[in-house]
Amino acid sequence: MYIITIDEAKCTNCTECVKICPSEVYKLENGKVVVGSSDDCSKCESCLSVCAPMAITVVEM
Ligand code: SF4
Ligand code: SF4
Repeated sequence: MYIITIDEAKCTNCTECVKICPSEVYKLENGKVVVGSSDDCSKCESCLSVCAPMAITVVEM
């Protein structure tokens, strides 16, 4: 299981993580990108590779 966090101070709300995540971990809430359910995260690291400001952290529990 993984815990995913977005550093809001760094996030530019570009939505690239929403578009690339195969497990639909990210979602839009009132136009803002947030972590929905991280239960299906496979740590593929796709989101890390597209997040230019490096705002995402994926930590194994
Ligand atoms: S890819 Fe990074 S900067 Fe873009 S919305 Fe996701 S967390 Fe924010
Ligand atoms: S590591 Fe992969 S599965 Fe996990 S949140 Fe990022 S893109 Fe989605």
